Amino acid sequence: MFEKVEILFNGGSVVKVSTVKQELPEAPEKSEPKEEEQAEKDEVPVYLATARFLKECHEHLMSRKTEGLHSVSGIRYNGLYTLDRLEPLDLDESSPTYAKSNLCSTMKVLTNMHRHGELLTGMFHSHPWVGRSAVQPSSTDINNQKKHEDAGYRNVSAVFSRDGWVRFFTAGIPFRIKIEGKGIERVTENLFRLTETEDL
Ligand SMILES: [Zn+2]
Repeated sequence: MFEKVEILFNGGSVVKVSTVKQELPEAPEKSEPKEEEQAEKDEVPVYLATARFLKECHEHLMSRKTEGLHSVSGIRYNGLYTLDRLEPLDLDESSPTYAKSNLCSTMKVLTNMHRHGELLTGMFHSHPWVGRSAVQPSSTDINNQKKHEDAGYRNVSAVFSRDGWVRFFTAGIPFRIKIEGKGIERVTENLFRLTETEDL
């Protein structure tokens, strides 16, 4: 058996790390997916998080006064993607309107997820302003998400404001968000408000 690590770069950022394992002799070709598997594929994926986790992400992002950015890992289980673990990233740049993660840091985080059999399920960043309008994703945000989707990732993105507004978005992949726990209210399908968050 051998193992090959593939790292895909796009626009100066690491967008995909994958490990290819191959048994010798080669495994037989995969059979056609069963009906249940196909049905699962056709369903809109649900991304699941707790209110407490989102509150922790908010605190992490607002610990800097300029724009913050981090990734989120999780697993896929029965058509659900979990938003489980906050994966901090070192930033090369952070201004009030822009944040760029460090390439080595991104690579390390993605490699570590992969080693543990986890997936990149979220990319969260902050717009360090207040109000519902602050969490509108910019064209740059959509483009960054699209790079991930084009590289085969199935993560959602989210923007957080200082006063606890959270908006989830993708560039094209269908998704639903499910948040469990106390301290958050759903305002529209993909827009939430953390209710126990101080204006940091
Ligand atoms: Zn943004």
